[in-house]
Order: sequence, then C-alpha cells, then structure tokens
Amino acid sequence: MNNEMYEKLGISSAVAEFSEKILDKLKSRFDDIDRIAEYNQAKVTLAMQKNRVSAECFAGSTGYGYNDRGRETLEKVYADCFNTEAALVRPQITCGTHALAIALSANLLPGDELLSPVGRPYDTLEEVIGIRESACSLREYGVSYRQVDLLPDGTFDYDNIAKAINEKTKLVTIQRSKGYQSRPSFSVGQIGELIAFVKKIKPEVICMVDNCYGEFVEMIEPSDVGADMIVGSLIKNPGGGLAPIGGYICGKQSCIDRCAYRLSAPGLGQEVGASLDTMRSLYQGFFLAPTVVAGALKGAIFAANMYEALGFRVVPNSTESRHDIIQAVELGSGERMVAFCKGIQAAAPVDSYVSPEPYAMPGYNCEVVMAAGAFIQGSSIELSADGPIREPYTIFFQGGLTWYNAKLGIMMSLQKLIDGGFINL
Ligand SMILES: *Cc1c(COP(=O)(O)O)cnc(C)c1O
Repeated sequence: MNNEMYEKLGISSAVAEFSEKILDKLKSRFDDIDRIAEYNQAKVTLAMQKNRVSAECFAGSTGYGYNDRGRETLEKVYADCFNTEAALVRPQITCGTHALAIALSANLLPGDELLSPVGRPYDTLEEVIGIRESACSLREYGVSYRQVDLLPDGTFDYDNIAKAINEKTKLVTIQRSKGYQSRPSFSVGQIGELIAFVKKIKPEVICMVDNCYGEFVEMIEPSDVGADMIVGSLIKNPGGGLAPIGGYICGKQSCIDRCAYRLSAPGLGQEVGASLDTMRSLYQGFFLAPTVVAGALKGAIFAANMYEALGFRVVPNSTESRHDIIQAVELGSGERMVAFCKGIQAAAPVDSYVSPEPYAMPGYNCEVVMAAGAFIQGSSIELSADGPIREPYTIFFQGGLTWYNAKLGIMMSLQKLIDGGFINL
C-alpha cells in the first residue's frame, strides 16, 4: 500500500518499510496457510451441499422451536464437516465454557473421575470442575478430578498418565490450545497419539477435546483422530466473526444425545430450542470461517516475525508450525503492554477512538489490559489483545476478521511502541 494511505492511518514510513521487509520472508508460510484454507473451504462447502442447505434454512423458529429445519441441517453440516456422528450447535449454548460444562456434566455421573492429562485446564473450567470451589461444580455432584502435568519440555507424561487412569476414569479432557499459558499448543497429530494411548489402556473412556481457537488451523480436527467429542465457541473460529452467539459439541451420537438432554431437559433433547434470527449468520459465518482463520493465522505469524526481529521472545516463535490462532509476545513491561494494546485498539473498525487502560478484573491477582474493537461483544476471532500486567509481561494477541486489518493492527502496535519511546527501529 502507498505511504500516503499509511500516513492517513497514522503509520510512519519507517514502520511501513520495516513491515514490508518482515513480510518479504513470509511468502511461503502464507502459501501454506492458503492451501489449508482452500482445503477447509472445500470441506465446509461439501458439507453444506450434501445436506442441501437452502434459503429455508435461514428462516429461524420461535417458541419451542419444533421441526426447525435450519437448526437440524446446521447440526448435520457441522457433524459432516468435523467427521462426527452427531452435533449440537445452538444459540442456547452461551459460550465456550458453557459448551464444555454441558459436555462434561452430561457425560460424568457421581462416582466418575475426570482426567486432564495435559495439565491445568482453561481458567473458567476450574470452577466448572471444582478445582476452585463453586456452587454446582462437578465436584459438588461427586465427580472427582485428576490431573497429570506436562513434562518440562511440554510433552505428555505418558508414565504418569498410565498410572492416573483407574476404574473410575470416565472422561479424559484434552485442551488443544495453550489458552493463556506458556505451554505449547498441541497439533491434531499429537492429540491423536494421546487419545490412542489412553484408549489402549481403557477403550471405553470418553476422550473430549477443548477445540477452542483450533478449528480450521489444520486440515484435520481432533474428531478425525479418535476424539469422542470436540467442543468450541462460535464467537471464536467456527463462527467466522458473523455468529452473534453460540457454541458447538460434535461427536458420538451417544455423547451428543446426553449433551442435548443436559442442555434442554431429559426427554426433550435436541427436539426443542428455537433458533430465532441466528441461522443465516451461523451458516454464513461457518462458510467464511476457513478464510477468517487463515487471516488470523497470517496476522499471528507476522506479529511473531516482527517482534522476534525486534528482540522479544514470542510464543510460538517465528518459524514454528501453528496449532491455534493465539500469539504471545513477551514485552517485558506493563507500559509496553498498554502501548501495544493502544495500537490494536486504534486499528479496530469499532471503538477505535477509545484508549485501553489497565484495570482490576475478578479472578486475577493483578491488573489486566485489553484491546478489542469488535462487532460482536468479546469476540476473539476479531482483532484483540490482552494480558495480565505481571511477569513476564506477556501480551496475547489473536484474531482479525481480515488479514489486512490484522496487519494494520500489528503495524499500529509497533507505531505506538515507537511513539511511546519504548522501541527504536
Ligand atoms: C476461550 C476458551 C474457552 C472458554 O470459552 P469462552 O467462550 O470464553 O467461555 C475454553 N477453553 C479455551 C482453550 C479457550 O480458548
């Protein structure tokens, strides 16, 4: 793009030139991402064609939502695309945590044990499981929890996983994305190996994968390598930025039936649940998701290469393969985190005029800074960044509905760091 337009956006020619230099080296990485996106686009399109998606599917329903053809077809589309027997995809699932809570509480009974062989789960699940005490946690209902931490190099501790599986072990939960931890995210291949290991010891155990932030990053999903359930949020990858709400659970019919009874009521299951006015955006978002995820991945790789070149530690690093859309940058100080977030916010299409400031948030022992100028509240498939203001002062960056906007956000973050006197080019 020409410098005149960059100038209008508030980007100096030095930042523009530095960015182009970084991008020059990324051509083949971006080609790989495009190949994956094309493949995933074909998967989604085929699933829609096979299930005869038509204009009627977008009409929506009200009240009980009996015979909602749009909802039923969308669930078949998800099931086919993710290669599972069944799917539960609904606006009644309020977020990713809710989808995971449904999947767990529907398939675990008093006396059963839940095992996480990949260390501590995502923060919000601590209360669902009862690691942190909470009313209505699984623990309160008599479901016990066991955890095997990863080895220091981030790989699976197979010896201790084998020891942890016992007669009570009913469900194994595997989180694909690192979330806001510093461990690596897992490839679908690695997850497949872990599932095979668990099933060899105890074939009847249910393997569930928290697939948040992972959808469409690779050509296969954990459900292609033996997962009995995969679970995620529609305001992340599979909603493609258009879904205004929702979550999904795809998997074995026997597991999904139970999830549907848990979500609505025993006996009712998938038969009820009006789709209201959400159907068109859920379909259209799913259709766009492979492209949106590709844009977010390009942004993450661009950010990794830019900030690594500037001397910061980045996770994943500039050359590593990608298994989710999150990019962590260790900025080393709170002031730099705030400047980075101001840049991301300034590049947003919505609320670009506000300036992020650190604030205290429930559940954290320190202040948190966040940047998000999103069409959908809290949507993290849209350009966003956040992080707790504490050692090692890491900002987590993700999303961007288009590659060009993600690129602008990253350039703007650098501009703000330069303007603040934190970096010299
Ligand atoms: C976002 C996320 C969740 C929770 O999703 P919410 O929609 O925020 O409730 C769970 N697990 C992982 C790995 C996530 O990234």
